[in-house]
Amino acid sequence: MSEFEHLIACPRCDALYRAARPKTGERAVCHRCHSVLIAPRVGASVRMVALSISVSILLIGALFLPFLHIERSGLGNSSSVFDVALIFAHGIGLPLVLAVASLIIVIPLLRALLVIYAVGPVVLNRNVRPHAARAFRWSETLRPWAMAEIFVLGCAIALVKIVDLATVDFGPALWMFSALVLINVFQDSFLCKWTVWSSLEQTT
Ligand SMILES: [Zn+2]
Repeated sequence: MSEFEHLIACPRCDALYRAARPKTGERAVCHRCHSVLIAPRVGASVRMVALSISVSILLIGALFLPFLHIERSGLGNSSSVFDVALIFAHGIGLPLVLAVASLIIVIPLLRALLVIYAVGPVVLNRNVRPHAARAFRWSETLRPWAMAEIFVLGCAIALVKIVDLATVDFGPALWMFSALVLINVFQDSFLCKWTVWSSLEQTT
């Protein structure tokens, strides 16, 4: 075991610490920026897989269920993200549709599937699949490119602007996107990636 394997770096401010397993009910927090470094081991992998399954279901629902219903002067229309993508998916709009779809649907879904692939067998007490560590690393590398929360924020700002012009009702997809944002915050702030890494290493 190399001398670096005992070290753990804060994911937010890069402060370096000597890793030690916290006692039951405790968690290790960065002294400088208060990010969680090591959370209780019990259920870290289970929670990570459960949240990734929830993310996959929510993403597919958010794509096809109605996102907004807009009504003005007795005329109304409701559409899903998929409907809107189809409307713009030709000519000059195609690259934009592909970019937005990748950032808000494809990459978050791919991240969730990579986590399920890598950590799922750990939860089921089976042998780790080949390249599990690499799959988990890819899901971490893709994290800055999963931008569902920026999409929700952009939609919220756009809605504030049109709310005076027409009656706007939120569809289930908007709430699903909002739930995704909360799950992402929880997954990034409160789940212990260190525990997942060490369980992937132990079972390889
Ligand atoms: Zn820190």
